[in-house]
Formats: sequence, structure tokens, C-alpha cells
Amino acid sequence: MLRALRSELSLFAFGLAAALTIGWSQGYLKLAVAVYILGYLIRHLYYCWCFLAWSHGQKNELPEGNGLWTEIFHQLRLRQRRYRRRKRQLAKILKRFRQATEALPDAAVVLGDGLEIEWFNKAAAHLLGFYPKDKGLRITSLIRHPDFVNYLEHAKFGQTITIQAPSREDIQLEVRVVPYLPDHYLLLAQDVTQIRMLERQRRDFVAHASHELRTPITVIKGYLETLMDSEEASLSPTFRPVLKRMDDQLKRLQYLIDDLLYLSRLETSQNKPSAMQPVDMEQLLADIIDELDQLKEPHAPIRLQLESQKHLLGNEQELRSAFTNLIVNAVKYTPATGAITVRWHTSRQGGYLEVADTGPGIPAEHLPRLTERFYRVPGAELLNPTGTGLGLAIVKHVLNRHQGRLEVTSQIGQGSTFRCCFPAERVVQPKTAAAAP
Ligand code: ADP
Repeated sequence: MLRALRSELSLFAFGLAAALTIGWSQGYLKLAVAVYILGYLIRHLYYCWCFLAWSHGQKNELPEGNGLWTEIFHQLRLRQRRYRRRKRQLAKILKRFRQATEALPDAAVVLGDGLEIEWFNKAAAHLLGFYPKDKGLRITSLIRHPDFVNYLEHAKFGQTITIQAPSREDIQLEVRVVPYLPDHYLLLAQDVTQIRMLERQRRDFVAHASHELRTPITVIKGYLETLMDSEEASLSPTFRPVLKRMDDQLKRLQYLIDDLLYLSRLETSQNKPSAMQPVDMEQLLADIIDELDQLKEPHAPIRLQLESQKHLLGNEQELRSAFTNLIVNAVKYTPATGAITVRWHTSRQGGYLEVADTGPGIPAEHLPRLTERFYRVPGAELLNPTGTGLGLAIVKHVLNRHQGRLEVTSQIGQGSTFRCCFPAERVVQPKTAAAAP
């Protein structure tokens, strides 16, 4: 920079000296100086104009310049070259990014602050039936499914919903909207038609198989009961334990089929339980405990601890089955000398049904898997030989259908607590309790 300044100064000094010499020798000193300064000024003005014309795009190249301008134009050319290189790199990255998103098998749509479509990939055009002219339209004017509109209105981002493709009824889409900038969203949609079909086939198979097994089991059970009651069988001492074992296994098979059928009924019915009503928890829990007490099998005493009179909005039959599963488990896995507490309490956050026992407890590593179908903690069959491993799967399913969740805490040798947590909107006052919409 200093070099450029020095060169400009020497250029000016040299020119001035020449003008002075010529002016002095010709007797027009002042005129010569004035002409020189004017020429100097015109030169600067010319380069300024060159710069302005170049920066406005009227001139493609900058002149070489001289003096200070050589350096200025050189620096500008360098900057321009660097800028062009960066622009080329960015364009390349952008192109590659576009190619990658175009190659995505899932639909991706960029939504602006008013949820209007800014960009979408090829899969979105295919799965959602979008055309280039749809850019700028609000997404809800193209995907009008009520579940999707409700999903956006309630900003349930992070969750996914399954809807029919707007342009093709035979395609099931799993849709998720992710906010990625303030007021900017990315909509992702995946074709899950095949997965849903396989799930349905699996559910139907289990339901049909369980249903078909019922009749032969009932027949076998009938014959077995006849045999056990018959005089002949009672006379044979080796026969009786065999029949007893057969009867136990048959009972287990029957429980298994009942649980499987119940699970598949829960799965095949709509997401929301059909009958929604305010359930009197005191009544429901007292009934369940009463029924268990009437079985006359010795078991640990069950204490009912009601800390709230509030009711729970839900399907009474489903809730009864879930709570019965938890209380029966506590009874089965707790020695008769232990204690079981069933507690119902509410807070601003929701309603809670707890079943706590003083049983053997469950090792921590098994807790996350308890609600898996057929999952049983090793050794469970000793305490509950007729267990199916489906009870807690049913509980989880019923709670899901009531927007609730199951929490389990347990300490080895001390006992376990199973807690059903329900959201606040499901907890209602007994007097004002009204049927859910
Ligand atoms: P099961 O018919 O075997 O009881 P569940 O699905 O109801 O099936 O329970 C799954 C497993 O969780 C049981 O096999 C048992 O190991 C464990 N479990 C459930 N409840 C309790 C409890 N109250 N105390 C100890 N273990 C339990």
C-alpha cells in the first residue's frame, strides 16, 4: 500500500516538475501548473468513472491504471476472483445438496413462515401430487386431511401422523413436520403402505389363529373335565397328576388366547377408545379388589388409598382390564405375608393410578422390556405359572389409547410400583363430568 502511495506521489512530483520546467521556459508558469493539475484531476475522475461503470456491471474489466490506481484495481480484481471462486464452490455444494434431496425416496417439502410451500423434491411431487405451480400455496390447501390440519393447528411437531396420500388413496403416508428455523418448517413424508399392510396381516393372522384355536381348546377342556370328574380317573393314582398338569396347561393356553384376542381387538379398533365416559375410580378399583378377594385364594392384603374423588375420562372396560392386570400381577408376585397398595391421586398435571407391592422386585435391566409381548422376567413362571407375558402389553396399549403412559420403579427384595399416568384433560370433577366429544 505504501509502495502504491509512493509511486503516486512520485508520479505527481515528476509531472509537476515537468509542467514547471516547460511553463518557466515558455514564460507561462501559472498556466502550465493549472493545465497540469486539471489533467491530474481528469485522470482521477476517469479512473473513478471506470470503477463506477465496472461496479454497476456496465464494464466487464477494469483498466490497468497507473500510480495508485494500479494497486486499487489489482486489489479489486483479486477480490472479484476470490468471490467468483467461492460462488462457484457454493453453487457446486447447492447442486450436490439438491441432487441428494432429489434422490431421497421420502418426500421433503420446505415450508415458509405462513406454511406456504417454498421448495419440494421429486418424491414430494410423486407422493403428494405437487406441481411446480404449487410453490407459494399454503400446504393445507393441498393436503386437506383433517388429521393433518389438526396436527399443524396444534403444532404437534416431533410426532408423526399417518394419512392417505392426497392424490392417491392407496398410499399411506407417515408425515412429520420439523421446525428448523424460526417460522420455517421441513415436512417429511414416507410411504408406509407396505409396512402398514404387513402389520395388518400380522394382526389379522394372530386374531384369526387365536379365534380358530378357541373351539378345539373348549372341546378338549370339556373332555378333560369329564375325565377328571369321572370315577375311573379318580381311581387311578398315576392318572390324576397328569390330568391336573394337562388342565393347568390348557388354562394357560386359554389365558394366552384370551389375551391375544383382546390385544388384537385393541389394535384393530380405532385409535380412540369407542366409549368414553367419566369413570368413577373409587367404584372401579373397589370392584376389582372385591372380585379378587372373592376368589378365596390366599393373597397379600390389598389396601385401597383414594386421595382424590375425581373421575377419569375413558373407556371403563379397557381401564378395568388394565388395572386388573396390574393388581392381579401384584397379587401373583407378592407373598401372602406382603402388602399391596392401590392408590388413586390427582394433581394439576394429571391423574395417577399406582399399584405398589412388597414383592420380590424386578432387576433394573428388565424394566424397559416389561411391556413387550411375551416378555417375562426369568423365574416369573415359578410365582405365576399361568402367566402369559401379555398382561403388561395390554396395559401399555390401553394407556396409549388414553394418552397415558406406564412408569415402573422397582427395588430387588423391596417391591415394585406400577404407575399409570393420565393427562390433566382426562381428569374430571364428578359433578361436572361430561361425556368426551
Ligand atoms: P405375566 O402374565 O407373565 O405376569 P405380564 O406382562 O403381566 O405377564 O408381566 C410381564 C413380566 O413382568 C412378568 O412375567 C413378571 O416377570 C414381571 N412382573 C409384572 N408385574 C410384577 C410385579 N408386581 N412384581 C414382580 N414382577 C412383575
